[in-house]
Amino acid sequence: MNRRFGHDVAIVGAGMVGAALALSLARAGFDVVVIEPRPPAPWRREDDVDLRVVALAPSSVGLFERLDVWTPIASARACPYRHMQVWDALAPGQLRFDAADQGIAALGHIVENRLIQHALWRALEAEPRIALRCPAQVSATEADDDRRTLVLADDSRIAARLVVAADGGDSALRRMAGIDTHDRDYGQRAIVAHVATERAHEDTAWQRFLPAATLAFLPLSDGRSSIVWSVPDAEASRLLALDDPAFCAELGAAFDFRLGAIHSTTARAAFPLRLRLAERYLAPRFTLVGDAAHVVHPLAGQGVNLGLRDAAELVRVLVEARDAKRDFAGMSVLRQFERRRRSDNALSAHAFDAIQRVFASQAMPLAALRGAALTVVDRIGPLKQLFAAHAAGR
Ligand SMILES: Cc1cc2nc3c(=O)[nH]c(=O)nc-3n(C[C@H](O)[C@H](O)[C@H](O)COP(=O)(O)OP(=O)(O)OC[C@H]3O[C@@H](n4cnc5c(N)ncnc54)[C@H](O)[C@@H]3O)c2cc1C
Repeated sequence: MNRRFGHDVAIVGAGMVGAALALSLARAGFDVVVIEPRPPAPWRREDDVDLRVVALAPSSVGLFERLDVWTPIASARACPYRHMQVWDALAPGQLRFDAADQGIAALGHIVENRLIQHALWRALEAEPRIALRCPAQVSATEADDDRRTLVLADDSRIAARLVVAADGGDSALRRMAGIDTHDRDYGQRAIVAHVATERAHEDTAWQRFLPAATLAFLPLSDGRSSIVWSVPDAEASRLLALDDPAFCAELGAAFDFRLGAIHSTTARAAFPLRLRLAERYLAPRFTLVGDAAHVVHPLAGQGVNLGLRDAAELVRVLVEARDAKRDFAGMSVLRQFERRRRSDNALSAHAFDAIQRVFASQAMPLAALRGAALTVVDRIGPLKQLFAAHAAGR
């Protein structure tokens, strides 16, 4: 730690994005402090697969490989998927992606959030350039010319040349820095559960668009599938209140019985869905990454992948500035990060939002677009490559 400035970087929030950013910066030679209110819940092999899972794009797996956390994750429990199939209940046409067509081994991996957080946390604890403050909470923040100070709930102070908020969609740090958000409540909830199906999942991530809903089946390594069923609030309440056999029957029908009957389900959980985009990513000596900067609809399974791309880009611009002997946390450097990531994140968020609107709409002109859109994308090679490359994080 530098006596004058304090730490190089303070990261508030050690979720998947904050923890990956902290490790990347420490491995690049920065002195980092991480502030987190609670350690992640432990992951144990003998426990059932946790309900929260993410589809990690190859770009995210690549980052975890570089951080030496991918081997512990993959050897514990991760399911690669080699195919993706998207189709619509109201129109003909379908989209199919194959890893082999992209020249890659897998289109992505389904992994429990808890396992990723557990592996990252262990790596944080072992990293000499990282100071972990946990449990700890920030109550105020103020910026000087050359550093930012965080006041913690116990009145202690932490100073750093740069503070990064990685404290999730309800980011308290973003509010403290005076950054507003554009919000849209989708009026939907995502129901998640793991289900056993009559037929094998074929290493495929499936997605079906329904009237006013989307339904994804993501493959798990034990042969079950993890579902994400995004439905209007009232419908979510109804589906959550069904007993297991009735829920399995409705789910099977909504999925067009692609994998046969649904034999059983775990308990279900539900998450409210919204779009939330930070108006800017910058304040003096301050920036945002991950859900603190952008919360997107889960229909494309991209939330954490976008956040990990923020982390990789922030490290790149900070290293470049430091190596050029510039003030790495100065406004011009942070602006470079903001320019690159904010446009990519906004583009992705609005694309998911547009897809959501088209498929949620019952209005005829929009409904007519549904099947046409899928068929067109599937038939036009370059357009399909573009979709596939974006999903893979390239
Ligand atoms: C149903 C559903 C399915 C999804 N599926 C996918 C998918 O398949 N693929 C994908 O890429 N994304 C998916 N996502 C999105 C993904 O879960 C999020 O984008 C991701 O968890 C964001 O990570 P994060 O580290 O930015 O934030 P978070 O995971 O929210 O972590 C924030 C961290 O900050 C800490 N914190 C909170 N408040 C404070 C505070 N005041 N001070 C300090 N620390 C604080 C928290 O304890 C936590 O550790 C899905 C989301 C949902 C709801």
